[in-house]
Amino acid sequence: MYKFDYLIVGSGLFGATFAYKAKQANKKCLVIDKRDHIGGNIYCENRHGINVHKYGAHIFHTSNKKVWDFVNGIVEFNRYTNSPIANYKGQLFNLPFNMNTFYQMWGVTTPAEAIDKINTQRKEMLDKISLSETKEPANLEEQAISLIGVDLYEKLIKGYTEKQWGRKCTELPSFIIKRLPVRFVYDNNYFSDKYQGIPIGGYNKLIEGLLKDVEVITNTDFFENREYWEQIAEKIVFTGKIDEFYNYQFGKLEYRTVYFEEEELDCSNYQGNAVVNYTDKDIPYTRVIEHKHFEMFGEDVDRCKKTIISKEYSIEWNENLEPYYPINDFKNNELHQKYKSLSDKESRVIFGGRLAEYKYYDMAPIIEKVLNMDID
Ligand SMILES: Cc1cc2nc3c(=O)[nH]c(=O)nc-3n(C[C@H](O)[C@H](O)[C@H](O)COP(=O)(O)OP(=O)(O)OC[C@H]3O[C@@H](n4cnc5c(N)ncnc54)[C@H](O)[C@@H]3O)c2cc1C
Repeated sequence: MYKFDYLIVGSGLFGATFAYKAKQANKKCLVIDKRDHIGGNIYCENRHGINVHKYGAHIFHTSNKKVWDFVNGIVEFNRYTNSPIANYKGQLFNLPFNMNTFYQMWGVTTPAEAIDKINTQRKEMLDKISLSETKEPANLEEQAISLIGVDLYEKLIKGYTEKQWGRKCTELPSFIIKRLPVRFVYDNNYFSDKYQGIPIGGYNKLIEGLLKDVEVITNTDFFENREYWEQIAEKIVFTGKIDEFYNYQFGKLEYRTVYFEEEELDCSNYQGNAVVNYTDKDIPYTRVIEHKHFEMFGEDVDRCKKTIISKEYSIEWNENLEPYYPINDFKNNELHQKYKSLSDKESRVIFGGRLAEYKYYDMAPIIEKVLNMDID
Protein backbone atom coordinates (compact mmCIF):
# COMPACT_ATOMS: atom_id res chain seq x y z
CA MET A 1 0.00 0.00 0.00
CA TYR A 2 1.34 3.38 -0.98
CA LYS A 3 0.75 6.45 1.16
CA PHE A 4 0.21 8.69 -1.88
CA ASP A 5 -1.07 8.26 -5.43
CA TYR A 6 1.58 10.67 -6.75
CA LEU A 7 4.90 11.92 -5.49
CA ILE A 8 5.61 15.11 -7.44
CA VAL A 9 9.29 16.04 -7.50
CA GLY A 10 9.44 19.81 -8.12
CA SER A 11 6.94 22.54 -7.26
CA GLY A 12 7.51 24.58 -10.44
CA LEU A 13 4.72 25.30 -12.87
CA PHE A 14 4.66 21.74 -14.23
CA GLY A 15 4.58 20.05 -10.83
CA ALA A 16 2.09 22.53 -9.34
CA THR A 17 -0.32 22.32 -12.30
CA PHE A 18 -0.09 18.54 -12.20
CA ALA A 19 -0.86 18.55 -8.47
CA TYR A 20 -3.89 20.79 -9.08
CA LYS A 21 -5.28 18.48 -11.76
CA ALA A 22 -4.55 15.36 -9.72
CA LYS A 23 -6.30 16.85 -6.71
CA GLN A 24 -9.36 17.49 -8.90
CA ALA A 25 -9.24 13.82 -9.89
CA ASN A 26 -9.30 12.93 -6.15
CA LYS A 27 -5.70 11.75 -6.14
CA LYS A 28 -3.56 12.11 -3.04
CA CYS A 29 -0.34 13.96 -3.86
CA LEU A 30 2.85 14.91 -2.09
CA VAL A 31 5.05 17.61 -3.64
CA ILE A 32 8.71 17.89 -2.67
CA ASP A 33 11.16 20.57 -3.74
CA LYS A 34 14.85 20.92 -3.04
CA ARG A 35 14.62 24.71 -2.88
CA ASP A 36 13.42 26.54 0.23
CA HIS A 37 10.35 27.82 -1.61
CA ILE A 38 7.66 26.67 -4.01
CA GLY A 39 7.21 27.87 -7.60
CA GLY A 40 10.43 26.83 -9.30
CA ASN A 41 11.68 29.52 -11.63
CA ILE A 42 8.56 31.67 -11.52
CA TYR A 43 9.01 32.32 -7.80
CA CYS A 44 9.06 35.97 -6.73
CA GLU A 45 10.43 37.55 -3.58
CA ASN A 46 8.43 40.50 -2.24
CA ARG A 47 10.51 43.48 -1.11
CA HIS A 48 9.01 46.92 -0.37
CA GLY A 49 5.80 45.73 -2.01
CA ILE A 50 7.67 44.88 -5.22
CA ASN A 51 7.62 41.32 -6.56
CA VAL A 52 11.18 40.54 -7.62
CA HIS A 53 11.41 37.80 -10.25
CA LYS A 54 14.33 35.94 -8.64
CA TYR A 55 15.02 33.61 -11.56
CA GLY A 56 14.52 36.03 -14.43
CA ALA A 57 11.68 38.22 -15.64
CA HIS A 58 8.57 36.19 -16.50
CA ILE A 59 5.76 37.48 -18.70
CA PHE A 60 2.79 35.24 -19.29
CA HIS A 61 1.51 35.18 -22.87
CA THR A 62 -0.70 32.85 -24.85
CA SER A 63 -3.30 32.67 -27.58
CA ASN A 64 -4.85 29.59 -26.02
CA LYS A 65 -8.13 30.66 -24.39
CA LYS A 66 -8.37 27.44 -22.37
CA VAL A 67 -4.99 28.15 -20.77
CA TRP A 68 -5.80 31.85 -20.23
CA ASP A 69 -9.15 31.03 -18.59
CA PHE A 70 -7.49 28.36 -16.47
CA VAL A 71 -4.82 30.67 -15.00
CA ASN A 72 -7.31 33.51 -14.54
CA GLY A 73 -9.52 31.07 -12.65
CA ILE A 74 -6.67 30.71 -10.14
CA VAL A 75 -5.61 34.39 -9.99
CA GLU A 76 -6.64 37.45 -11.99
CA PHE A 77 -3.99 38.76 -14.41
CA ASN A 78 -3.17 42.44 -14.94
CA ARG A 79 -2.85 44.34 -18.23
CA TYR A 80 0.97 44.35 -18.47
CA THR A 81 2.10 44.48 -22.09
CA ASN A 82 5.70 43.69 -22.85
CA SER A 83 7.27 46.60 -24.76
CA PRO A 84 11.04 46.44 -24.31
CA ILE A 85 13.36 49.32 -25.09
CA ALA A 86 16.83 48.90 -26.60
CA ASN A 87 19.62 51.21 -25.42
CA TYR A 88 22.52 51.47 -27.88
CA LYS A 89 25.24 53.84 -26.62
CA GLY A 90 22.54 55.99 -25.00
CA GLN A 91 20.31 56.07 -28.07
CA LEU A 92 16.89 54.51 -27.41
CA PHE A 93 14.88 52.32 -29.79
CA ASN A 94 11.54 50.58 -29.44
CA LEU A 95 11.38 46.82 -29.79
CA PRO A 96 10.31 44.64 -31.50
CA PHE A 97 11.39 46.15 -34.83
CA ASN A 98 8.44 48.28 -35.91
CA MET A 99 7.67 51.68 -37.42
CA ASN A 100 8.73 53.41 -34.16
CA THR A 101 12.14 51.71 -34.40
CA PHE A 102 12.54 52.69 -38.06
CA TYR A 103 11.62 56.30 -37.30
CA GLN A 104 14.18 56.36 -34.48
CA MET A 105 16.82 54.71 -36.69
CA TRP A 106 16.37 56.60 -39.97
CA GLY A 107 13.68 59.29 -39.51
CA VAL A 108 11.39 57.48 -41.97
CA THR A 109 7.67 57.91 -41.31
CA THR A 110 5.91 55.60 -43.76
CA PRO A 111 6.03 51.80 -44.21
CA ALA A 112 7.07 52.25 -47.87
CA GLU A 113 10.12 54.33 -46.85
CA ALA A 114 11.08 51.78 -44.17
CA ILE A 115 10.73 48.80 -46.53
CA ASP A 116 12.83 50.62 -49.11
CA LYS A 117 15.57 51.39 -46.56
CA ILE A 118 15.74 47.78 -45.33
CA ASN A 119 15.72 46.31 -48.85
CA THR A 120 18.53 48.60 -50.03
CA GLN A 121 20.66 47.51 -47.08
CA ARG A 122 19.84 43.81 -47.48
CA LYS A 123 20.74 43.83 -51.18
CA GLU A 124 24.49 44.16 -50.74
CA MET A 125 24.60 41.12 -48.43
CA LEU A 126 22.23 39.08 -50.61
CA ASP A 127 24.49 39.79 -53.62
CA LYS A 128 27.54 38.66 -51.63
CA ILE A 129 25.79 35.44 -50.58
CA SER A 130 24.58 34.69 -54.13
CA LEU A 131 28.20 34.92 -55.31
CA SER A 132 29.47 32.57 -52.62
CA GLU A 133 30.06 28.88 -53.26
CA THR A 134 27.34 27.58 -50.94
CA LYS A 135 24.79 30.35 -51.71
CA GLU A 136 23.96 30.21 -47.98
CA PRO A 137 24.81 32.77 -45.27
CA ALA A 138 28.18 31.71 -43.86
CA ASN A 139 27.44 32.81 -40.30
CA LEU A 140 24.96 34.63 -38.06
CA GLU A 141 26.17 38.07 -39.16
CA GLU A 142 25.48 37.37 -42.84
CA GLN A 143 22.14 35.81 -41.99
CA ALA A 144 21.01 38.79 -39.90
CA ILE A 145 22.11 41.43 -42.44
CA SER A 146 20.41 39.52 -45.25
CA LEU A 147 17.19 39.62 -43.22
CA ILE A 148 17.09 43.17 -41.84
CA GLY A 149 20.04 45.16 -43.22
CA VAL A 150 23.21 46.49 -41.67
CA ASP A 151 21.94 49.33 -39.41
CA LEU A 152 19.45 47.29 -37.40
CA TYR A 153 22.00 44.49 -37.18
CA GLU A 154 24.93 46.67 -36.06
CA LYS A 155 22.98 48.64 -33.45
CA LEU A 156 20.40 46.22 -32.15
CA ILE A 157 21.52 42.63 -32.81
CA LYS A 158 25.31 42.33 -32.95
CA GLY A 159 26.47 43.37 -29.47
CA TYR A 160 23.49 41.80 -27.71
CA THR A 161 23.92 38.44 -29.47
CA GLU A 162 27.69 38.40 -28.90
CA LYS A 163 27.14 38.98 -25.17
CA GLN A 164 24.45 36.30 -25.06
CA TRP A 165 26.60 33.64 -26.70
CA GLY A 166 30.04 34.82 -25.60
CA ARG A 167 31.23 34.56 -29.21
CA LYS A 168 31.46 36.85 -32.24
CA CYS A 169 28.49 36.81 -34.64
CA THR A 170 30.87 35.85 -37.45
CA GLU A 171 31.75 32.72 -35.46
CA LEU A 172 28.15 31.76 -34.71
CA PRO A 173 26.15 29.51 -37.05
CA SER A 174 23.49 31.19 -39.18
CA PHE A 175 20.69 28.82 -38.06
CA ILE A 176 20.51 30.50 -34.63
CA ILE A 177 18.55 33.31 -36.31
CA LYS A 178 15.93 31.82 -38.59
CA ARG A 179 13.84 34.94 -38.87
CA LEU A 180 13.78 38.41 -37.38
CA PRO A 181 10.22 39.66 -37.11
CA VAL A 182 9.77 43.11 -38.63
CA ARG A 183 6.47 45.00 -38.42
CA PHE A 184 5.53 47.93 -40.58
CA VAL A 185 3.04 49.32 -38.07
CA TYR A 186 3.51 51.54 -35.01
CA ASP A 187 3.15 48.74 -32.45
CA ASN A 188 5.57 48.17 -29.56
CA ASN A 189 3.76 45.12 -28.18
CA TYR A 190 6.46 42.44 -28.18
CA PHE A 191 4.15 39.44 -28.30
CA SER A 192 1.62 38.74 -30.99
CA ASP A 193 -0.42 36.50 -28.67
CA LYS A 194 -4.05 37.31 -27.87
CA TYR A 195 -3.51 37.41 -24.10
CA GLN A 196 -0.66 38.53 -21.86
CA GLY A 197 -0.13 39.83 -18.35
CA ILE A 198 1.22 39.20 -14.87
CA PRO A 199 -0.79 37.66 -12.02
CA ILE A 200 -2.13 40.43 -9.78
CA GLY A 201 -0.13 40.04 -6.56
CA GLY A 202 2.63 38.15 -8.37
CA TYR A 203 3.38 34.62 -9.60
CA ASN A 204 3.44 33.19 -6.07
CA LYS A 205 -0.35 33.68 -6.01
CA LEU A 206 -0.64 31.42 -9.04
CA ILE A 207 1.52 28.69 -7.52
CA GLU A 208 -0.15 28.99 -4.09
CA GLY A 209 -3.53 28.67 -5.79
CA LEU A 210 -2.44 25.59 -7.70
CA LEU A 211 -1.00 23.95 -4.60
CA LYS A 212 -3.86 24.88 -2.23
CA ASP A 213 -4.71 21.88 -0.02
CA VAL A 214 -1.79 19.86 -1.43
CA GLU A 215 0.90 18.59 0.93
CA VAL A 216 4.25 20.21 0.11
CA ILE A 217 7.70 19.72 1.63
CA THR A 218 10.48 22.15 0.64
CA ASN A 219 14.24 21.88 1.30
CA THR A 220 14.01 18.24 0.24
CA ASP A 221 16.12 16.77 -2.55
CA PHE A 222 14.68 13.60 -4.08
CA PHE A 223 18.18 12.18 -4.64
CA GLU A 224 19.23 12.51 -1.00
CA ASN A 225 16.73 9.83 0.00
CA ARG A 226 15.73 8.29 -3.29
CA GLU A 227 14.81 4.83 -2.02
CA TYR A 228 12.41 6.26 0.55
CA TRP A 229 10.69 8.56 -1.92
CA GLU A 230 10.41 5.85 -4.55
CA GLN A 231 8.28 3.67 -2.31
CA ILE A 232 6.03 6.36 -0.88
CA ALA A 233 3.72 6.78 -3.89
CA GLU A 234 2.25 4.65 -6.63
CA LYS A 235 3.55 6.97 -9.33
CA ILE A 236 6.21 9.67 -9.52
CA VAL A 237 6.05 12.91 -11.48
CA PHE A 238 9.64 13.98 -11.97
CA THR A 239 10.42 17.57 -13.04
CA GLY A 240 14.14 17.67 -12.19
CA LYS A 241 17.09 16.96 -14.49
CA ILE A 242 16.64 13.77 -16.52
CA ASP A 243 20.39 13.03 -16.65
CA GLU A 244 20.59 13.26 -12.85
CA PHE A 245 17.66 10.80 -12.56
CA TYR A 246 19.78 8.27 -14.44
CA ASN A 247 22.97 9.05 -12.50
CA TYR A 248 24.52 10.79 -15.51
CA GLN A 249 25.28 7.35 -16.92
CA PHE A 250 25.65 8.61 -20.50
CA GLY A 251 27.22 11.98 -19.54
CA LYS A 252 25.99 15.42 -18.52
CA LEU A 253 23.58 17.59 -20.49
CA GLU A 254 24.65 21.22 -20.91
CA TYR A 255 22.78 24.46 -20.27
CA ARG A 256 23.10 28.18 -20.80
CA THR A 257 22.61 30.34 -17.78
CA VAL A 258 22.12 33.92 -16.66
CA TYR A 259 23.57 35.69 -13.66
CA PHE A 260 21.35 38.32 -12.03
CA GLU A 261 22.92 41.26 -10.20
CA GLU A 262 20.23 42.83 -8.06
CA GLU A 263 20.25 46.42 -6.79
CA GLU A 264 17.82 48.14 -4.47
CA LEU A 265 17.67 51.86 -5.30
CA ASP A 266 16.39 54.84 -3.33
CA CYS A 267 14.34 56.20 -6.17
CA SER A 268 10.83 55.44 -7.29
CA ASN A 269 11.49 55.04 -11.00
CA TYR A 270 14.90 54.10 -12.44
CA GLN A 271 14.33 53.45 -16.14
CA GLY A 272 10.60 53.98 -16.76
CA ASN A 273 10.13 50.53 -18.26
CA ALA A 274 10.25 46.92 -17.05
CA VAL A 275 12.74 45.76 -19.69
CA VAL A 276 15.66 47.67 -21.24
CA ASN A 277 18.07 45.75 -23.48
CA TYR A 278 21.66 47.00 -23.68
CA THR A 279 22.69 46.22 -27.24
CA ASP A 280 26.18 47.76 -27.19
CA LYS A 281 28.89 45.15 -26.59
CA ASP A 282 30.87 47.42 -24.26
CA ILE A 283 28.14 47.26 -21.60
CA PRO A 284 28.73 43.85 -19.97
CA TYR A 285 25.10 43.04 -19.12
CA THR A 286 22.39 42.24 -21.68
CA ARG A 287 19.28 43.62 -19.97
CA VAL A 288 18.16 45.62 -16.98
CA ILE A 289 14.83 44.59 -15.47
CA GLU A 290 12.98 47.05 -13.21
CA HIS A 291 10.57 44.73 -11.44
CA LYS A 292 7.96 47.19 -10.18
CA HIS A 293 6.82 48.03 -13.72
CA PHE A 294 5.37 44.53 -14.13
CA GLU A 295 2.71 45.24 -11.56
CA MET A 296 2.66 48.98 -10.80
CA PHE A 297 1.19 51.40 -13.28
CA GLY A 298 0.48 55.16 -13.28
CA GLU A 299 0.65 56.82 -9.86
CA ASP A 300 1.45 53.54 -8.08
CA VAL A 301 4.99 53.71 -9.50
CA ASP A 302 5.83 56.88 -7.53
CA ARG A 303 3.82 55.89 -4.49
CA CYS A 304 6.38 53.14 -3.85
CA LYS A 305 9.54 55.12 -3.02
CA LYS A 306 12.03 52.32 -3.72
CA THR A 307 12.81 50.34 -6.80
CA ILE A 308 14.64 47.07 -7.47
CA ILE A 309 16.55 46.35 -10.64
CA SER A 310 18.34 43.25 -11.94
CA LYS A 311 21.20 43.41 -14.39
CA GLU A 312 21.39 40.22 -16.46
CA TYR A 313 24.72 38.75 -17.49
CA SER A 314 24.88 35.78 -19.84
CA ILE A 315 27.48 33.34 -18.55
CA GLU A 316 28.70 29.82 -19.21
CA TRP A 317 26.93 27.23 -17.08
CA ASN A 318 28.66 25.06 -14.52
CA GLU A 319 27.19 22.73 -11.94
CA ASN A 320 27.13 25.34 -9.18
CA LEU A 321 24.81 27.53 -11.27
CA GLU A 322 21.13 27.21 -12.10
CA PRO A 323 20.53 25.31 -15.34
CA TYR A 324 18.33 27.76 -17.28
CA TYR A 325 18.24 27.09 -21.00
CA PRO A 326 18.80 23.63 -22.53
CA ILE A 327 21.31 23.78 -25.37
CA ASN A 328 19.48 21.88 -28.08
CA ASP A 329 22.46 21.40 -30.38
CA PHE A 330 23.30 18.09 -32.02
CA LYS A 331 25.58 16.83 -29.25
CA ASN A 332 23.15 17.52 -26.41
CA ASN A 333 20.06 16.37 -28.32
CA GLU A 334 21.75 13.09 -29.09
CA LEU A 335 22.65 12.64 -25.42
CA HIS A 336 19.13 13.56 -24.39
CA GLN A 337 17.72 10.93 -26.75
CA LYS A 338 19.67 8.26 -24.87
CA TYR A 339 18.09 9.32 -21.59
CA LYS A 340 14.69 9.62 -23.23
CA SER A 341 14.84 6.07 -24.48
CA LEU A 342 15.23 4.99 -20.83
CA SER A 343 12.47 7.28 -19.57
CA ASP A 344 10.06 6.05 -22.27
CA LYS A 345 10.28 2.59 -20.71
CA GLU A 346 9.31 3.75 -17.21
CA SER A 347 5.82 2.72 -16.16
CA ARG A 348 5.74 4.45 -12.77
CA VAL A 349 7.48 7.72 -13.60
CA ILE A 350 6.15 10.66 -15.63
CA PHE A 351 8.85 13.07 -16.80
CA GLY A 352 7.63 16.62 -17.37
CA GLY A 353 8.83 20.22 -17.63
CA ARG A 354 11.92 21.93 -18.92
CA LEU A 355 14.56 19.93 -17.03
CA ALA A 356 12.99 16.49 -17.31
CA GLU A 357 12.24 16.91 -21.03
CA TYR A 358 15.40 18.96 -21.70
CA LYS A 359 13.36 21.43 -23.67
CA TYR A 360 12.74 25.16 -23.34
CA TYR A 361 9.07 25.75 -22.56
CA ASP A 362 7.27 29.02 -22.01
CA MET A 363 4.82 28.95 -19.12
CA ALA A 364 1.63 28.66 -21.18
CA PRO A 365 2.70 25.52 -23.10
CA ILE A 366 3.64 23.88 -19.78
CA ILE A 367 0.12 24.47 -18.51
CA GLU A 368 -1.43 23.40 -21.82
CA LYS A 369 0.52 20.17 -21.70
CA VAL A 370 -0.64 19.29 -18.18
CA LEU A 371 -4.25 20.28 -18.90
CA ASN A 372 -4.23 17.82 -21.82
CA MET A 373 -2.86 14.92 -19.73
CA ASP A 374 -5.08 12.09 -18.53
CA ILE A 375 -4.51 11.67 -14.83
CA ASP A 376 -5.68 8.31 -13.55
C1 LIG B 1 15.52 33.26 -17.46
C2 LIG B 1 14.17 32.71 -17.88
C3 LIG B 1 13.16 33.58 -18.24
C4 LIG B 1 11.91 33.08 -18.64
N1 LIG B 1 10.93 33.96 -19.03
C5 LIG B 1 9.73 33.49 -19.40
C6 LIG B 1 8.71 34.40 -19.83
O1 LIG B 1 8.89 35.63 -19.86
N2 LIG B 1 7.52 33.87 -20.22
C7 LIG B 1 7.26 32.50 -20.21
O2 LIG B 1 6.16 32.09 -20.57
N3 LIG B 1 8.22 31.64 -19.79
C8 LIG B 1 9.44 32.10 -19.39
N4 LIG B 1 10.40 31.21 -18.98
C9 LIG B 1 10.08 29.76 -18.91
C10 LIG B 1 9.51 29.32 -17.53
O3 LIG B 1 10.43 29.60 -16.52
C11 LIG B 1 9.20 27.83 -17.58
O4 LIG B 1 8.18 27.58 -18.51
C12 LIG B 1 8.77 27.22 -16.24
O5 LIG B 1 9.52 27.66 -15.17
C13 LIG B 1 8.91 25.73 -16.34
O6 LIG B 1 8.44 25.12 -15.18
P1 LIG B 1 9.01 23.71 -14.72
O7 LIG B 1 8.11 23.24 -13.63
O8 LIG B 1 9.22 22.84 -15.88
O9 LIG B 1 10.48 23.99 -14.19
P2 LIG B 1 11.05 24.76 -12.93
O10 LIG B 1 10.37 26.05 -12.73
O11 LIG B 1 12.52 24.79 -13.10
O12 LIG B 1 10.70 23.81 -11.70
C14 LIG B 1 11.41 22.65 -11.41
C15 LIG B 1 11.43 22.47 -9.90
O13 LIG B 1 11.96 21.19 -9.58
C16 LIG B 1 12.78 21.30 -8.45
N5 LIG B 1 13.73 20.18 -8.44
C17 LIG B 1 14.65 19.88 -9.40
N6 LIG B 1 15.35 18.79 -9.04
C18 LIG B 1 14.86 18.38 -7.85
C19 LIG B 1 15.19 17.34 -6.95
N7 LIG B 1 16.18 16.49 -7.22
N8 LIG B 1 14.48 17.20 -5.81
C20 LIG B 1 13.50 18.08 -5.51
N9 LIG B 1 13.15 19.10 -6.29
C21 LIG B 1 13.82 19.26 -7.46
C22 LIG B 1 13.46 22.64 -8.64
O14 LIG B 1 13.95 23.14 -7.41
C23 LIG B 1 12.31 23.49 -9.20
O15 LIG B 1 11.60 24.13 -8.18
C24 LIG B 1 11.67 31.68 -18.64
C25 LIG B 1 12.70 30.80 -18.29
C26 LIG B 1 13.93 31.31 -17.92
C27 LIG B 1 15.03 30.34 -17.58
